[in-house]
Amino acid sequence: MLRRKVLVIITDTICTRLSHPSSTLGVQCRLFSSSLNKMVATHENSKVISRTYKNVQKSENDDRKYKGLILSNGLKILLISDPNTDKAAAALDVNVGYASDPSDLPGLAHFCEHMLFLGTKKYPNEDEYHKYINQHGGSCNAYTSTDHTNYYFDVGHEHLKGALDRFSQFFIDPLFDVCCSDREVNAVHSEHEKNIMSDAWRLQMLDKTTCDQSHVFSKFGTGNKETLDSLPKQKGLNVRDELLKFHEKFYSSNIMGLSMIGRESLDELTEIAMDLFSSVVNKDVKVPVYQESPYRKEDMEKRCNSVPVKDIRNLIVTFPIPDLQEYYDSNPGSYLGHLIGHEGPGSLLSELKNQGWVNSLVAGQKGGSRGFDFFLIQVDLTETGIYHVEDIIQIMFQYIKLLKSVGHQDWIHHEIRDISAISFRFKDKEKPSSYVSKVSQALHYFPLDKVLSAGNILTGSRPDVVQDILERLNADNMKVDVVAKAFDGSADLSEKWYGTKYALVPITNETKEKWNNVELNDKLRLPEPNEFIPSSLSQKLVPESNPELPKLIKMDNFSKVWFKQDSTFNLPKATISVDFYSPYAYVDPHHYNMVHLFVDLFVDALNEYSYAAEIAGLGFKLSNTVYGMCLTIDGYEDKQMVLLEKILTRLTNFTIDPQRFTILKELYQRALQNFHADQPYNHSAYYCQVLRSEVVWTKTKLYEALPELTLESVSEFIPTFLSYLHFESLMHGNLTKKDASNITSFIEKTLKENTLTLPLLPSQLVRYRDIELPPKSAYVYKYHHEVRDNSAIQLYLQVGLQNTRDNCLLDLTSQMISEPFFNILRTKEQLGYVVHCSVTRSNSTQGIRFIVQSEKSPNYLEARIEAFINHVETMFSEMDESEFNRHKAALKARRLEKPKKLKAQTLKYWGEILSQQYMFERDQIEMSYLDNVEKEDVVTFYKDFLHINGGKRAKLSTYIIGKSNVECPVVINVEEHNKAIDDCLLKCPQLPASHIIEDVSRFKQKMSLYPRCEPYIDLAGATL
Ligand SMILES: [Zn+2]
Repeated sequence: MLRRKVLVIITDTICTRLSHPSSTLGVQCRLFSSSLNKMVATHENSKVISRTYKNVQKSENDDRKYKGLILSNGLKILLISDPNTDKAAAALDVNVGYASDPSDLPGLAHFCEHMLFLGTKKYPNEDEYHKYINQHGGSCNAYTSTDHTNYYFDVGHEHLKGALDRFSQFFIDPLFDVCCSDREVNAVHSEHEKNIMSDAWRLQMLDKTTCDQSHVFSKFGTGNKETLDSLPKQKGLNVRDELLKFHEKFYSSNIMGLSMIGRESLDELTEIAMDLFSSVVNKDVKVPVYQESPYRKEDMEKRCNSVPVKDIRNLIVTFPIPDLQEYYDSNPGSYLGHLIGHEGPGSLLSELKNQGWVNSLVAGQKGGSRGFDFFLIQVDLTETGIYHVEDIIQIMFQYIKLLKSVGHQDWIHHEIRDISAISFRFKDKEKPSSYVSKVSQALHYFPLDKVLSAGNILTGSRPDVVQDILERLNADNMKVDVVAKAFDGSADLSEKWYGTKYALVPITNETKEKWNNVELNDKLRLPEPNEFIPSSLSQKLVPESNPELPKLIKMDNFSKVWFKQDSTFNLPKATISVDFYSPYAYVDPHHYNMVHLFVDLFVDALNEYSYAAEIAGLGFKLSNTVYGMCLTIDGYEDKQMVLLEKILTRLTNFTIDPQRFTILKELYQRALQNFHADQPYNHSAYYCQVLRSEVVWTKTKLYEALPELTLESVSEFIPTFLSYLHFESLMHGNLTKKDASNITSFIEKTLKENTLTLPLLPSQLVRYRDIELPPKSAYVYKYHHEVRDNSAIQLYLQVGLQNTRDNCLLDLTSQMISEPFFNILRTKEQLGYVVHCSVTRSNSTQGIRFIVQSEKSPNYLEARIEAFINHVETMFSEMDESEFNRHKAALKARRLEKPKKLKAQTLKYWGEILSQQYMFERDQIEMSYLDNVEKEDVVTFYKDFLHINGGKRAKLSTYIIGKSNVECPVVINVEEHNKAIDDCLLKCPQLPASHIIEDVSRFKQKMSLYPRCEPYIDLAGATL
């Protein structure tokens, strides 16, 4: 696969505020560079604006209006006016990150990012900004990477100015309050603790440890208590003073990029930007450029063998190359990434797979920093592959030799250029907050008028640069890293911050010699021209009678087909989603495993063919579900039928390759095992779901059933699986009703002819249900984590069957309490980095969940959550009408935000189909119900379902007990707890005794089940 941006995406969506000090983030724009400083500013009349750009090159499909500005303080700005946007958003990127940390204060840039939020001279309250954003339907976040610190938010479109007023003060007059400072060190510390057992973070740091330690690349960017508190204290350093110095030195308007999007006109946005940001001080900071590579000759003479936490096996080969940003209009890095990372016939991956050594391959530029970069080839290793690392590298060099010998191929460059141009022309609208965040960073690298198109519109070609990089891909200029559990016995070194065990093993000159002098391999060849590049990109005629919502166009024992021709996004794209139901899919763990492996083997077998489609913007996905399997094809509509025909014909005539079976079974087995090393908070959510749902085969049960999973059992099972099926589908996008009917007939015909598939009776289409926790009940389930030291809890309060009233009240309650929950438990009590409260829905039921991951034990966390829930009563009674109305408006803004992409709209419809509720207008229906909701309704709802004495309260807590946290009683002695805590903390109310769930099946057997919701539409009455 071609990878030119993020290799290790370290995201974790559960937190409302996250920071990712990862050098891999923010790489996207670094592919291409241009120094804006070189641009000569032509002064306009205004004193505040030094230059204006009115012709910003944009996608033909983009109806937003753009204007670029450079203020006289040097601040670069891109303004985006979109009269239809529901959300306004803004982002500011400071072109400085943890590479600029003082060497005795690792993590200072990241700490600064945390502290900046917590109060300014104009708005001294530490939660002022978050509160404002939350109460106006928005969200905010920030991240710190090697060279960037990026702050962004979105908010209901009426409140851009109010939010920006608070936001701009961060860059003008932050307080860095000394009280917040002590506490926030804890937040940074627990953020690091959360990452400590994550292989992505560990390997990234190990890479930094095995290079030149005097190079900025080697820095530890997150920071923790040691680097930001105890060590500075020992040295007599005052961290707050250093923070002020850091801000004073680097937070300068001339190295900031700002982007904002709103309904306002460009002139109005200009006014706002001038008003709020012209007073940011210009300190004329020069951003550092690092010409030297962090890998010295001696770093590249040894192979680094390291031991992962999860059972993963990877080989990573990294070649230092120069920074290629100035070539953004020809993008030579992507030319090489495209070829070396290709997955079609004759590719490097294809040959390595044939040998049985690897399953996947990633190649391309990996973000270095200003001045240096890397080209990387990464493969995973099979059980055999681990013994063939040298052979694998040998074949890599054979492919590189092939590229050198054939020279630059113009037609391949043109293909990449054309695909990229089509993709830019029919670009989906992006979500405002991620859009501005990306743009604000790109402003540092490209001329303002090309900031959107750079890297997408390739106007040049640089065979000489391609050749130059190819020359650098040699055995004397390469770092080799191998990751596997197998090195446990031999790893004699330990990385400082994460404790990763590793060993450095010399690479002999003979080996290097061998790699540098490989012969051509006749199994390797360049890819064929891509037949999937769309030739027709036209819009199909939309009939006047086109319904607003998906319509049922077929319903019988074989299938139920929903169709919606798009008339909103007007792109030549479509999605075909097909959910296959089989009565055999979830009979027992073994059956689930068989479907799983069948799907894995099929996707693997089709990959060489489907890869070309994927890079041409036509994707396909097949995944197994508890009911069977789900197929999705999306992207340019033009050649979808070609791909669908191939998929179905192959699926219904599938034979298993025995070698691939062994390899993929082993991969699946490791994935099941690796679940045990996941974050504790993921486990707490997982086990809650296991307990709630009628039937769940846990990862442990699936693992135990693996001995039955043989080549023979799966081969015999495939025809059985395909013998009885029902499918439900949605065709959405640039498709006519006739297209949808043809697709449906084709699927049915192929199944009937090739596998003699028979339909199912309606009574066979059983869907699973959730258990009903009795009113006033409290259950606890305990699970000991085998790998991680931190503990976690999910406290779930069940609200019951979904219906418009309860859905609405539950969402509003969550809107009103989630920010205070975060503020009290994370910011004030410092329980841990992961603190989260949200609504959760499954199998027609719903509830609210409170999640905390912490060094503290789950019973303590439960008492803190209960204390918070109790405090909500006071919070509600003190809340005035206007604040309540702000929450209502905020929820409404969130829910009624229009999907930006066709795919997002498809997903909304598809969610209604999968849940079989078919309320396609759910947002409109529920939000018009919300109009009549009074504060009293929410208070009553809270008193019934959430309050400790609530008559309908039904609680299920899942405790994940950290490895180091051996003792964890479930009985909470409230009096002792209240005595032991700080006086300023909320007190925990008296709690009823909890029942401990010892045996999950027995627990479920005793419970009644909730029914499934009735469909919102009368399906029997649907006119076809
Ligand atoms: Zn952070």
